[in-house]
Amino acid sequence: MGLKQEFLTDSPEKTKKLGEILAQSLMNSVLICLSGDLGGGKTTFAQGFAAGLGIKEKITSPSFVLMKRYLLKKKGLKYFYHFDCYRLREPEEILALGWEEILGDNNIVLVEWADKIAGYLPQGRIKIRFEILEERRREIIVTSNA
Ligand code: ADP
Ligand code: MG
Repeated sequence: MGLKQEFLTDSPEKTKKLGEILAQSLMNSVLICLSGDLGGGKTTFAQGFAAGLGIKEKITSPSFVLMKRYLLKKKGLKYFYHFDCYRLREPEEILALGWEEILGDNNIVLVEWADKIAGYLPQGRIKIRFEILEERRREIIVTSNA
């Protein structure tokens, strides 16, 4: 079944809140793929999302290190992985980061610039696209074909 839901936010705080609410509703391991405009709010959303998972650490963009990992305290879940593929040179570089093992375990995985690794994304993921409408207005489109 395909689901699609569109959101409009007019501040970074509201984009964070959207991430937080989505994270709080998750019970199982999941892959969340973020795409869209540079400055669209992907990292901002990821910060709220991590807060919604109960992570207290400060979430910064992993664009230079490609991936950061945070321990989860929820029952049955291991880690929150925050990937940023913006600086990947070749899609297959994702494999060297342990990609398949990470997806195969009880983790929550969020990927910025997921379209850069399109060939390595399994079915059943949640896709979220960020578009800049105006200085502070963003359109955020969530789709899932799970
Ligand atoms: P990305 O990771 O998609 O490149 P960031 O989250 O790093 O984007 O940056 C988004 C920038 O846009 C931040 O400087 C943020 O303050 C600003 N901003 C303005 N309005 C919004 C909004 N509605 N949602 C998210 N970010 C916004
Ligand atoms: Mg970012």
